[in-house]
This record gives sequence, structure tokens and C-alpha cells, in this order.
Amino acid sequence: MAKRATKRGDERTDLSGSRDLLVCGASFAGLMVARQMAGSGADVLLIDRYEIGERQTSACAIPTAWLENLGLIESERQRFDTVLVHTAHGSTRLKMPFSVSTFDYRVLCELLWQGCDATFETAKVNGRVETSAAGLIAVETDRGVIEAPLVVDALGWKRVLAAGAQFQPPDAPLSRGLEVHPRASSGEFVIWINRRYVPAGYGWAFPAGDEVRVGIGSFDPGFNVRPTTDLLAEDIGSGESAYQGNWIPHELRPATADGVFFVGDSAGHCLPATAEGIRTALYFGTALGTELRAVHEDHQTKGQAIENYHQFNEAHRPQFELMLKFQRLLPKIHPRLVKPILKAVGSGPLGRRLLYRYFEFAPPEFARILAPPPAKRSLKEVLLAMPNAGDDRDFDRPDDRGNQVEI
Ligand SMILES: Cc1cc2nc3c(=O)[nH]c(=O)nc-3n(C[C@H](O)[C@H](O)[C@H](O)COP(=O)(O)OP(=O)(O)OC[C@H]3O[C@@H](n4cnc5c(N)ncnc54)[C@H](O)[C@@H]3O)c2cc1C
Repeated sequence: MAKRATKRGDERTDLSGSRDLLVCGASFAGLMVARQMAGSGADVLLIDRYEIGERQTSACAIPTAWLENLGLIESERQRFDTVLVHTAHGSTRLKMPFSVSTFDYRVLCELLWQGCDATFETAKVNGRVETSAAGLIAVETDRGVIEAPLVVDALGWKRVLAAGAQFQPPDAPLSRGLEVHPRASSGEFVIWINRRYVPAGYGWAFPAGDEVRVGIGSFDPGFNVRPTTDLLAEDIGSGESAYQGNWIPHELRPATADGVFFVGDSAGHCLPATAEGIRTALYFGTALGTELRAVHEDHQTKGQAIENYHQFNEAHRPQFELMLKFQRLLPKIHPRLVKPILKAVGSGPLGRRLLYRYFEFAPPEFARILAPPPAKRSLKEVLLAMPNAGDDRDFDRPDDRGNQVEI
């Protein structure tokens, strides 16, 4: 049974002591790791400074198949097959190779949590501290020092549990994003690539039922996204609402360091250029949870898990680097060329292949195959069992007349 405790004031008792696994951060990555441990019998403690699902951390758009494959479809708010891209010199509607959904953050987190049998406590993580206990890692929180042989940092971009200096803007490789959620409705999933809003980056309006998530993402952490988030909201006539934003890592980082495992934004798992970090947090969270479970069940040592997870992370480096190159190239493209390039991507076979490749990076089948009750399979076996990411099975559908519509 999953145990959850919201404690305030005097009820915030000391959590000092040791556990089998300490997962710090209860958003996409942390919840996914904890979920992979369900049924293992491990004493798993999941902590976050907020309640599960309390603080939305993104615009919450994800390929629909991820929601379906993880049994999270109940959280879906709206689904889209096309993306409307506005540039400074015209607009283009692109057909996406797979549908994308917006979802309700709170519901999705709750559904992930329902699949866990861990204990949850609200606690703020301050960082690592020394311990004399052999084989344990000690983490200082505002509710005491918690020790565990296996510790996961799923705390987001800051990489709180890394030894030495943490990632700090504006010098760290970080993008930034800010959005508002005015009450409105729309059927269009929209992106703006227009320097009126951001010199390097893009704007978005993602409808989600009775609200539209309108925001600006800048690859340059020095660019102030607040005035142009307001400008975009004003231009599209949406009302006002509270701001929500954060720094977004755009470079892959080491997935392990000094015995700690990093996942999601703390490991730089957010994709450069698109700033899509939810499916990758779920993907790498699944992989890490599988490795940690194998340690708990004595199928491997912690050292082997470190090596396997490190290798798994590094195997994805080429894709992350390619996306980073694309991110750097994007602001250099002359504004007049943006629409023709998008048009070419939308209509030509090469462009369509690229879109498929992008969507098949961190494929949703991965989590379905590994999802608990855990398959007694190694990561390598799962990868071999997956449909070939490069296979052309959908490229030549008879009804596929290209994925770009002029407007
Ligand atoms: C404005 C914006 C919009 C975005 N939109 C999208 C989108 O539509 N689709 C997409 O795929 N990606 C999007 N992203 C990126 C996405 O939000 C991240 O990549 C994703 O949230 C990473 O998940 P995570 O679990 O690693 O970290 P997070 O979701 O950031 O979760 C970190 C958790 O750690 C907790 N925490 C942090 N520090 C501490 C501490 N010291 N002590 C205790 N708890 C702590 C936080 O409360 C939080 O629950 C967006 C990002 C931004 C900023």
C-alpha cells in the first residue's frame, strides 16, 4: 500500500534514518522511478517540497501514446494531430506523425502515484552531507538526514545532490520558459517562431480543456521572457493568469556521480530545441527504476547498476547533441526562410522521416514493455524487443498525403 503523509507544523516529524531507496523529487522522473519499484518489497521513500501534483512544472504536452502505454490516459485534456506554426512571414499547419495530448498535471501525478507502493513525505532537500556509515549516502533535508544505499536526484535542473557547484544561470547550459494559463478554449496546437517574441526560441499556445497554456521558451537564459509572454498573450487576446516558469537544461549531463543517480532534468534529459522533457523523464525514469529494482532483488550490484545506467544515458548522447546543434542553428536561420523550410519538412519524405525519428526518440513502447509488474528482462533485451525505430512501416500509408497544409 502506498503511504502518503501531508504534514504541517509539529506534525513534520524527523525523517532521519535509513531506507533501501531514497527518491528526491516527486514529479515525472521521480514518480516513474518509484513506480518501477512497486511490488519489489523495497523500503522506498519519495520526498518533495510540495505535495504530489501540487505545483505544475510544465505546459504538459506529450505524445498521446505515452499516456496510453502507461495507463495515464485519464489525465488527457485535449488531443492534436496537427501543429500550426506562425512565423514572421506566414503560417503553416504541419501534420504530426503521432498525436500529441495536453494533460492535467495533478491527475497524471496522482495516477503515477497510485502505481507506487512507496512512502511519500513532504521535505525540502538541502544537499548531501558526510556519513560514517559504509555504503550509504546521506541527504540533508529540513526534516533530518536521510540515508540510503540507493539515492536518486529527480529534483529538476539544479542537480541539487551533485557534489561541488550546482548549475546556476546565466552561465550554465540552461534555457528558460515562462507561461500563463488563461481561461479559454481552442482546437489548435500552436507554435510561434518569430523574433517579435524571442530571438532564440519559440512561443506556444497549448489548449487544455478550459484553459490555454501560453508561453515563451528562450534558449538564451539571459533573455527576459516575461514581457514577451505578456505580449503573446495580449496578441492572441487571452486573459491574464498567474505565471509559471522555470529553467530548462539543454545539455545532457552525466547520469551518475559519486554514487547518486540522476534522472529527468537533473540529468539534462530535456530535449534541446523543443524543450520536451516529460517523455524523456518518464523514459529514463523507467530505465533507472528497472536498474535499481534489479539491485534490490540481488540480480546485480549497485556498481553494475551505475555502469548500466551510465551506458544507457551515454548511448543517447548523439541524439541530444544533434538536437543541440539544431537549437543553435535555429536562431541563425533568416526569418524569411523559416516558413519555406518548415514547408519542405512538412511535405517531403526526408522531412517526414525526420519528424518520425524525432518522435521515436524515447519511444513509448519502452515503458509499456518494462512497466510493472516488471518484466524479468534486462534493458538490453527490452531494446531488442522494441520495434525498430528506423522502420518505415508508417511512411507510405496510402492516405498519407504529406503532413503540411498551407494556410
Ligand atoms: C514553462 C515550461 C513549459 C514546459 N512545457 C513542456 C511540455 O509541454 N512538454 C514537455 O515535454 N516538457 C515541457 N517542459 C519541460 C519539462 O517541464 C521538464 O523537462 C520536466 O518537468 C522534467 O521533469 P522532472 O521530473 O525531471 O523535473 P520537475 O518536473 O522539474 O520536478 C522536480 C521536482 O523536484 C521538486 N524539488 C525541486 N527542488 C527540491 C528541493 N530542494 N527539495 C525538495 N523537492 C524539490 C519539485 O517540487 C518538483 O516536484 C516545460 C518546461 C517549462 C519551464
